[in-house]
Amino acid sequence: MSTFQIDKYLYHMRLSEETLQEVSQRFRKEMEKGLGADTNPTASVKMLPTFVRSTPDGTEDGDFLALDLGGTNFRVLRVKVSDNGLQKVEMENQIYAIPEELMRGSGVQLFDHIAECLANFMEKLKIKDKKLPLGFTFSFPCHQTKLDESILVTWTKGFKCSSVEGKDVVSMLRKSIKKRGDFDIDIVAVVNDTVGTMMTCGYDDHNCEVGLIVGTGTNACYMEEMRHIDLVEGDEGRMCINMEWGAFGDDGVLNDIRTEFDQEIDMGSLNPGKQLFEKMISGMYMGELVRLILVKMAKEGLLFGGNLTPDLLTTGHFETRYVSAIEKEKEGLQKAHEILTKLGLEPSHEDCVATLRICQIVSTRSANLCGATLAAVLRRIKENKGVERLRSTVGVDGSVYKKHPQKLGTSRGPIARGAAMVTAVAYRLAAQHKARQKILEALKLSHEQLLEVKQRMRIEMENGLGKETHAEATVKMLPTYVCSTPDGTEKGDFLALDLGGTNFRVLLVRVRNGMRRGVEMHNKIYSIPVEIMQGTGEELFDHIVHCISDFLEYMGMKGVSLPLGFTFSFPCQQTNLDEGILLKWTKGFKATGCEGEDVVNLLKEAIHRREEFDLDVVAVVNDTVGTMMTCGYEDPYCEVGLIVGTGSNACYMEEMRNVELVEGEEGRMCVNMEWGAFGDSGCLDDIRTEFDLAVDELSLNPGKQRFEKMISGMYLGEIVRNILMDFTKRGLLFRGRISERLKTRGIFETKFLSQIESDCLALLQVRSILQHLGLESTCDDSIIVKEVCAVVARRAAQLCGAGMAAVVDKIRENRGLDFLKVTVGVDGTLYKLHPHFSTIMHETVKQLSPKCEVTFLQSEDGSGKGAALITAVACRIREIPSISVGEQ
Ligand code: ADP
Ligand code: MG
Repeated sequence: MSTFQIDKYLYHMRLSEETLQEVSQRFRKEMEKGLGADTNPTASVKMLPTFVRSTPDGTEDGDFLALDLGGTNFRVLRVKVSDNGLQKVEMENQIYAIPEELMRGSGVQLFDHIAECLANFMEKLKIKDKKLPLGFTFSFPCHQTKLDESILVTWTKGFKCSSVEGKDVVSMLRKSIKKRGDFDIDIVAVVNDTVGTMMTCGYDDHNCEVGLIVGTGTNACYMEEMRHIDLVEGDEGRMCINMEWGAFGDDGVLNDIRTEFDQEIDMGSLNPGKQLFEKMISGMYMGELVRLILVKMAKEGLLFGGNLTPDLLTTGHFETRYVSAIEKEKEGLQKAHEILTKLGLEPSHEDCVATLRICQIVSTRSANLCGATLAAVLRRIKENKGVERLRSTVGVDGSVYKKHPQKLGTSRGPIARGAAMVTAVAYRLAAQHKARQKILEALKLSHEQLLEVKQRMRIEMENGLGKETHAEATVKMLPTYVCSTPDGTEKGDFLALDLGGTNFRVLLVRVRNGMRRGVEMHNKIYSIPVEIMQGTGEELFDHIVHCISDFLEYMGMKGVSLPLGFTFSFPCQQTNLDEGILLKWTKGFKATGCEGEDVVNLLKEAIHRREEFDLDVVAVVNDTVGTMMTCGYEDPYCEVGLIVGTGSNACYMEEMRNVELVEGEEGRMCVNMEWGAFGDSGCLDDIRTEFDLAVDELSLNPGKQRFEKMISGMYLGEIVRNILMDFTKRGLLFRGRISERLKTRGIFETKFLSQIESDCLALLQVRSILQHLGLESTCDDSIIVKEVCAVVARRAAQLCGAGMAAVVDKIRENRGLDFLKVTVGVDGTLYKLHPHFSTIMHETVKQLSPKCEVTFLQSEDGSGKGAALITAVACRIREIPSISVGEQ
């Protein structure tokens, strides 16, 4: 028979490109079925979670023991892994026999024997006194519930010990060791051989995330995203999945490509109907497949002149190693002759060529099928990662794969080394986790600490309010001369200026009362060039007036004189509603000749210089006050204002009798706390961390605004960056490599904290954010970064909540109430856009001020609207006739 005729005869075994594609797609579906909670029970590819969550990163270190049970030999190993920059692995191992009667005896006897072998091995190496961590390669189908807990489903490969199935093999081994009492070990991990292979290769190649075995059997594992693994709780990170892919096809999905030979093999096997994919691929069956083909062809008179011999007719007499030998390039035909002759045949040259061709077809099909399923796995990993091209390594082991001449690839050492590697990784992760937690501990505040912060804030508030103590006080508690909140009867058109936020704006605000009650706004944003921000005061205010003029023209209102409210969000000492002495510039402003001056005066002078229009400046307003007023317009309970944006600050309605800087005992006045400076006296030093100090030191105003620097948008990203740098320096992140990017101040903006913590974001996207920042990270790294972001944001929200608790409780006590219902108006992008900040802050206030029911109301454009409302209220009280322009 010619090669051509053989090819035709075995047509059904030669799978086309399309068929292989089809197989690949079917396997992909099976993977999904195995992963889904509803579909798993009936899935044939079981996709078992292994609880191995990380691959080696090369920094593993230590001395480990490993056991390997379930391969051809039972072995005990000692593996030393060192991370001295060289990544060295040293191994010593010993093979022990497991007598036949033990393989089918009682489970207790088996584990006693294993413990005995371990004792012997440790004795020999003189390490019996050490309690070493141990990894256990146990290559039988197991249901794993933890890294160190594995319940045997059924024995295979000739083992059949009683009372082990359905039990945790780790606790059985532990019992046997304990019973002896002459040594102790720490069993850290049980792994499957595929996982061991992946981990072994992973140590040398960090891209290795697939393990493949093609030996007696075939199986593979790979790193899957936790969020796709329904059977294990948690969505973060990855976990290795032991696919048990040998069972692919057990539900019939491969029936169309299985041949009569495959069916015959299955019928004659120990487990008919099971492991159908494995039976088409693995070493246990490949030789047998060739034999069955030879027999059939001989019977039909197509080979060996129609002769059959007893040897050729005996199951197992054509071994899989013959297939490899015959396919060897040079001596292959001669080998075929030898082997066939040994089987009692008298092969012709043609028979040898035909046999060679049959071997090639069988092994090519095996390789192709294996490739098709592997392609499905790789495609899935690629999709999981959302990358265009995947750079990935497959760790391979198994004698069929290694010995077969047509298959390329290298295997990197015995599987049992993998068990030690799993143990080493688990150890590294545990040690690193502990180290990181210790550092993060300092940023986690207890209930007691938060109560303490609240109490200290209260003391600082009293200091700021008191006549005697005010001068020295850090929390300045500045009177604002805003004495009432809107009552809804306000009306008229007002101009507002907003200076001190991210933008400078001019606004026209129309306030209506009665039936059409509401506020309508028009505004225009103007930039303030840096040379003006940091030039002279005259230049700055001339620029502001120029913008007002432009705005009036734009609105077609030139010549109309409107009352104006000026939101000026810098600390000001006020002696009147329409007067504010600038105490100090912040946020990048530095114009000369302004500090110590009344900003209303500076504005008025500039208006006069221009000689174009006149304005009645009615109020200077802090943004916190504007926010409170805006919310107060909607909700009469709103008596507190809070900003969490670039900076952080708060204001609230205080009793006049407590505002000692202002004459009068009656009624209330809004106090601009300037709480950002809380802690500047040193009273928060016990909770400030080295990271807070580092951020403070490099800021524009070292030692100032310490509370604000732990809370607000301008600083949180920097705190996170400092922690990440520290982790990296200690080798706890980014594999210990500090990049130039990470060293760059300001790269980690606070908006990234929001993005990274966003609930709907997969870890992969966190990774891509980090990548975007120029920070190459692994999956584990992104989990850590996310945790750091969470800890820093949480502390910020809690501190803010503690401050707020002090405020609302003071209001309650001021009024001698057992219970207070109050609303806080809030503004600021951090508060509004961070996914958890507001929730955590609300919870904290609730915990620290149980006698207050606090509602938080987000303000819409507090700085603009608020200034107009304050002006409106002032006009109402002063009885300045209201003016309206345009249609009415
Ligand atoms: P300002 O406080 O200057 O009036 P904002 O309230 O808009 O202005 O706050 C701006 C600050 O908010 C920025 O400095 C930045 O730190 C922070 N920020 C911007 N975007 C986000 C976001 N998505 N999540 C959290 N913080 C953000
Ligand atoms: Mg603002």
